[in-house]
Amino acid sequence: MSADLVISNIGTIVSGDVRTPIAPGDTIVVRDGVIASVGDAASADASGIAAVIDAARATVAPGFCDNHTHPVLGDFTPRQLQVDFIDSYLHGGTTTMLSAGEPHTPGRPTDPAGVKALAILAHKSFANLRPSGVKVHAGAVLLEPGLTETDFREMAAAGVTLVGEIGISGVKDAAVAAEMTRWAQACGMQVMVHTGGASIPGSGIVGADFVVQVQPDVAGHVNGGPTALPLDHVERILDETSARVEIVHNGNVKAAGEIAALVARREELPRLVIGTDSPAGSGVQPLGMLRAVSWVASLGGVDAATAVAAATGNVASLHGLHTGIVEVGREADLLVMDAPLGSQADDALGALAIGDTPAVASAIIDGTPRFTKSRNTPPAVRPVSFSN
Ligand SMILES: [Zn+2]
Repeated sequence: MSADLVISNIGTIVSGDVRTPIAPGDTIVVRDGVIASVGDAASADASGIAAVIDAARATVAPGFCDNHTHPVLGDFTPRQLQVDFIDSYLHGGTTTMLSAGEPHTPGRPTDPAGVKALAILAHKSFANLRPSGVKVHAGAVLLEPGLTETDFREMAAAGVTLVGEIGISGVKDAAVAAEMTRWAQACGMQVMVHTGGASIPGSGIVGADFVVQVQPDVAGHVNGGPTALPLDHVERILDETSARVEIVHNGNVKAAGEIAALVARREELPRLVIGTDSPAGSGVQPLGMLRAVSWVASLGGVDAATAVAAATGNVASLHGLHTGIVEVGREADLLVMDAPLGSQADDALGALAIGDTPAVASAIIDGTPRFTKSRNTPPAVRPVSFSN
């Protein structure tokens, strides 16, 4: 799957790095699936590489890393009885997905042995399976009473790195959740807490008190999943924890804008991560990442390239992934994006700034172009051409 590729004639390179969201240059060279250079055509060493994407002066950005998905096994969601949803998300620019738990597993077990087995199975299954090339990090254990410190050590030893959103499974008590969170974090696992109103039967209403007591790595969907917290709870989470705050597509749109503006005002945009919270009762959203990024930019007033960083580099940094940023040595998971045909904007960043959904002209994973025309976004003003 890893390939050599040159992307030439780039108009703008969005880096995915929240500190320097635009990278200079017009050419990216990929060797063996890894970014080998980012810069000007004159200084690029493309020797021996036949595969070329001419970006036609459009924008290149990292592929989106969806921080909040609910897969089960394979490219099928029992929640909405839909096949190939991951392939559809790729056509909306998602190249990496993180699981926030597999609650839609038919007959999901709720005993310690069962939840442990499910997390290990989901992790190992997606480690062996990349639907349409998408990198799915699954196996996010949903906490149930009775799990022990030894259980977390065993899960971590089997490769599990995620605790799914606390609040949607059996552990409702903050003290118990906090103790399990300490065990999980001691094993290097990332812990998410569900916040806001209840999502599905069995999930709870979780506010700032709970999050402050648990001290997770991520305060999940602070704009609601789907029902939002009051804004002063989000401020308390920012003040009294070091957690990332997450904005999702399947939440409250108005709250998404208000929270993005709040985080920007506080100059804490490195703490902002974006996901879809899908598949869910709200559905399957192939363009969910593009749309959530456009809300952060257009409603929250966040610079569009910085909003892209919250959906790429910030998520990669949270999970220690080697993707999400356009820099030498990273996995070449990239998008060519542009203004959609008919937009009032001139390019992808302009489209995001006015709330349009950009066109994904091409998605590239490990240097391999997966398509050169999305079937799900509007067409690009400047279509790419690929030669090999
Ligand atoms: Zn949730």
